[in-house]
Amino acid sequence: MIDKNIELIISRLPGVDLRGQSVLVTGGAGFLGSWMCDVLLKMQAVVVCLDNLSSGLERNIAHLHGRPGFTFIKADISEPLKLDAPFNLVMHMASRASPFEFSQYPLEILKANTIGAMNALGIARRHKARFLFTSTSETYGEPAVLPTPETYRGNVSATGPRGCYDESKRCGEAFVMAFCNQYGLDARIARIFNTYGPRMREDGIYGRVVPRFISQALANVPITVFSDGLQTRSFTYMADQVEGLLKLACTAGLAGKVVNIGNDKELTILELAKNIIELTKSKSELAFEPLPIDDPARRCPDILLAKALLGWQPTIGLDTGLSHILEWLRVSDNRDAVKSQPGK
Ligand code: UDP
Repeated sequence: MIDKNIELIISRLPGVDLRGQSVLVTGGAGFLGSWMCDVLLKMQAVVVCLDNLSSGLERNIAHLHGRPGFTFIKADISEPLKLDAPFNLVMHMASRASPFEFSQYPLEILKANTIGAMNALGIARRHKARFLFTSTSETYGEPAVLPTPETYRGNVSATGPRGCYDESKRCGEAFVMAFCNQYGLDARIARIFNTYGPRMREDGIYGRVVPRFISQALANVPITVFSDGLQTRSFTYMADQVEGLLKLACTAGLAGKVVNIGNDKELTILELAKNIIELTKSKSELAFEPLPIDDPARRCPDILLAKALLGWQPTIGLDTGLSHILEWLRVSDNRDAVKSQPGK
């Protein structure tokens, strides 16, 4: 499962040569960060994975310990930190990202995306490294323009329940641009849209909609659709996402560029729930629950810029992607708990 996904990603990056390059990945034990470490190592890069294991998991990187070229540092990028290794590329991927975490850990989230981004940018500057910031579609808030292009400035509540995430990512982007403009740093910003795949947590406050629904379906317990389920999202499979991020990080001449990386196939949450019930042959029924405050009604990226600048577009359809995460979640060792539901 791991190797199959890594090979797929690398096969789509023929022009990217990272042999011997030294890369710092903050949040490297998280869902996307750990896949990034896997791919970089397979490409013979030297990888320093930094994570405070607050929401990332040791098990995501357990297979990498002792591998030539891999170092793990348990540390919080929001705290002052001096790293001696020379870096060619710094990828700041550390942050909690699940909406249920926003109410419990708002300060951690604010710090990771602002002070953490500044610290990671400082490391890149010291080492004259290239920099990638993993920002988010949440910088658009409740978009009035769909599909949403990078030029859309956002419709965000600073004081609402999602403010800690949305505004700190926006501030992180401002830090990136400041380092570009003031110090000439070669930095890029990816706005990541909903991404799913193996290693994504399904438990408690960490569970995003795809692994939550699959876990509920596998356990034949009700699938918790918020509101009427007519809100939309556009889901990107992890391998497409990692490929897009690496193309953005490694293509020459993109300093200061902001690029949406996401799938532009929009679907309702109700459609997602029905797909998952069918795929898992589950006996689960739908349980309609209240919509969390400020949950965006629609989300879909305009990906014309990614196509033009990176020659990138998603290739893995929802059915294929869901079957991969399903295969992974069927292995009970990969699962944490279906029992814990946010707010219950
Ligand atoms: N959602 C849902 N039931 C759940 C969890 C999420 O209906 O048990 C909905 C949620 O309201 C949102 C969408 O699924 O509209 C995606 O939620 P997720 O937490 O994955 O991330 P978001 O896109 O909101 O950041």
